[in-house]
Parts: sequence; structure tokens; C-alpha cells
Amino acid sequence: MDLRPVGRQFFIRTYGCQMNGHDSELMESILLSYGFQPAKSEDTANIIILNTCSVREQAERKAIGRLQRLARRKKSEEDFYFGVTGCMAQNLGLELFHCVPDIDFVIAPRRIHAIGEVLRRLKNGERQIYFPNESVETSENNDVLYRRKVIKASAFVTIANGCNMNCAYCIVPKTRGREICRPMESILHEVQFLVEKGVREVTLGGQIVNFYGVRKIPFKNGKSPFVQLLEKVHSIDGVDRIRFLSPHPSGFRDDLIDCYSNLPKLCPHVHFPIQSGSDRILRAMRRPYTRQMALKILHKLRRNIPLMAISTDLIVGFPGETEEDFRQTEQLFSEVDFDMAFIFKYSLRTGTQAAVMDNQIPEIVSEERNQILLKKLAVTSYRRNRLFIDSRQPVLVEAPSTKDPAVLWGYTPHHKKVFFHGPRKLIGQIADIKISKATTCALSGTLADELV
Ligand code: SF4
Repeated sequence: MDLRPVGRQFFIRTYGCQMNGHDSELMESILLSYGFQPAKSEDTANIIILNTCSVREQAERKAIGRLQRLARRKKSEEDFYFGVTGCMAQNLGLELFHCVPDIDFVIAPRRIHAIGEVLRRLKNGERQIYFPNESVETSENNDVLYRRKVIKASAFVTIANGCNMNCAYCIVPKTRGREICRPMESILHEVQFLVEKGVREVTLGGQIVNFYGVRKIPFKNGKSPFVQLLEKVHSIDGVDRIRFLSPHPSGFRDDLIDCYSNLPKLCPHVHFPIQSGSDRILRAMRRPYTRQMALKILHKLRRNIPLMAISTDLIVGFPGETEEDFRQTEQLFSEVDFDMAFIFKYSLRTGTQAAVMDNQIPEIVSEERNQILLKKLAVTSYRRNRLFIDSRQPVLVEAPSTKDPAVLWGYTPHHKKVFFHGPRKLIGQIADIKISKATTCALSGTLADELV
């Protein structure tokens, strides 16, 4: 299909989570397969895609500001197209054509495979094309057809899309819809394909990844469908490392905890989004677990795997959060000794249950609580990182540093970022690095042996 007359250079600006990053990668692959080229910058592109996030209202406002600037550019440039994909496309839908009348396309997260079709229709003179999520059974099975024109050593593999949870602060169930899981065979086929292209690490992704398949695939010998999938991915030759993102604490059972002992390729790092240390707030957030349940899981993980790295998401200033609730979060924070934490000040999100709750917390209080946890995090992450000094770590090398091209960086199995001097031929390989220094957010060291 010849789409060249519709401009050739595209630029995708990605906002939000890793799922969005993955969707952008997929659209990039589709556009490359249609003969388009990535532009070096937004200024030199003929097609601009904003792959948006709706988690924060502020992010949507910023994206609309950017779209309005693009609309002004469209008036002065021929053969220029721009549009929105991602969560905001579903959340605001047709309203976007009213906010920004010159916008060319709006494509919801489950329809991003349509990007090629959209460009074809634009070429034929159509304008204002809208693809909502509705009536789509799956968005992911087609991935294999297009994927990975862009291959890196580490690949994100979406295993499920959407969410069946009902967290009071979250817009995702509305924007991405109810959870749809890919068939296991399709996932394994994709992992096999990636490994043959040189991928060494796969991250299995979904909004509630550890609930994968629970409504369709039976448990086997007490093992959940997700654990069954992990075992199958583990058995694929060429996969060196497995990660997953993001699990839900209430789906973290012993069969999954045991995987960290039984599956050596499963990296000793878990992202465990605990959100609050107060049971009262967890209930208000509609998170179906207690502080005690979460602590039990984390203690078990650290007991089984002593250096287990644990990261988390926390929200401070959720409506009704008292000093006592926050004190419990603070106390949990100290008890777990997180390697890393993404601490968010609660921000009101229209369309969620929390937006209409009483007792919204003043910004000044949220900010104060945020600063308290950030200070604690600086101490704990530095202490956790120092545990690796003088050890040798297998680092999957990703890229040269932007500050100094002679320096490379990559990740250890514990998901610690490591900087070191080394030849570029190591990119995509696992190098053996002797760690000599730690900061709050990274490690650095020297090359011991080139390859592990
Ligand atoms: S589990 Fe909760 S926070 Fe996560 S995507 Fe689903 S609704 Fe949102």
C-alpha cells in the first residue's frame, strides 16, 4: 500500500506508563512497515502522534495545549497531520474534535493497530477519523505481525490489556476497558520470535498482570494461569531474564512467591504497588488487601531471596487521609526498606470515585507528606544500593550514556541501573561489572569480564 504522499516523517510523543511506551513502539513498527521514517524531531515531522495518558487531569490539559499549537502549525503547513492515541483518546473521545477542531485522528488504546488504515484514509481525503475502543475483542494478537522492527535486548510483551479492578482514584478501567488477556500460545510465540531476533530479557506486561487468565484458564496443581505462563516463558531457550509489571498485591499468592526460588531466570525484583500503609485508606481506595497481607508477602519474598529488590507506588493525600493514616504509611515505608518508590501526591481526576469524595486534602499537606517520604526514600535507596558495592553484577547493556558516549549503562537482575566504561559492541549483551560506587539512584563500576 503506497502511503507516501501523506508525508513520510513521523514523530511519536509518549506520555505516561510503560504500556503506553510499548504501544508507541508498536505504532512505530507499523509505520516503519508502511515505509514511513522516524523524524529526528517534532519540527521535521509530517505526522505527529501524541500517545497520551489520562491518569492526571494536568497531563490532559498539557496535551490539549500541545494539540492547539499543532493545530496552528497545520494552518501554515501543507501535508501535515496530527492526532491523539492512548487513554485520552478514549476518555475524551469525540470531545477532542471540539477542543481542537483541526485534529486529524483520535485512536483509543485498543485500536492503535489502525494507525496504518487511518493514514490510508487521510490520504484519500478523509478528515477527523475516530476509532474508539468499543467492540474490539483484542488489540494484541496482531502484534506479532508488525512487531519489533525496532529490536532491543530487553522487550516488553503485553499479555493483557485493561483492568477489572475498581480503584477509586484510577481512570484506567474507563480508558482501557475491561481486561482482555492474550491467548498463552500467542504470547509464547511472540517471545520465541523476539528471542530469535536477539532479545534476552522479556517483561510481561499488563495492568494487573498476575491476574492473567484467571477467568478463562484453570489453575493447575495449585498454580495460577500467570504462574503457568511464567514457567512456559522460562522454558524458552534464549530467554535469560524475565520480569513482569504491574502485579496487584491481592493476586500475589504463594505459587507466585515460590517462582522466585524455582525459576532462576525470574529477576529478583518486584514492583509491588502498595499505595498506602493504612487499612482505612486502602478500603477507601477500594484496594482489596490489608497492610498486614501486603507486609506478609513482602517479608516472605525477602526471607526467600535475601537481596530481593522491592519497588512500590504510593499515594499521599488521598481524600480523608489523616495524620494517623499517613503515620502508618511512613511506618510501613521504613519497615519494608524499599529499593525504589514512585510517590504521588493524590490529584483529583474527574470521572473517578475519589473525585467526589469528601475531605479532599489541601495541596500543602500532600506536599509536606510527599517530601517526608522522598527524604526517607533517599536514605533507603542509597542504603539498598550500597549493598551491591564490591559485588560482581551481570549487566544487560542497553545504551551509551547521553552525557558521555564512552560510558554505557544497563540493568542488573535486581533492576539497578549501572554505568561503566566499555566498548559499544557490548550493547545488547550481558557484561560482568565489578561495582565500586552507589548513589541513591544508580551504581557504577568497571568491566570485570566482557561477557557473562
Ligand atoms: S488495579 Fe487499580 S490502579 Fe491499577 S489499573 Fe486497575 S484500577 Fe487502576
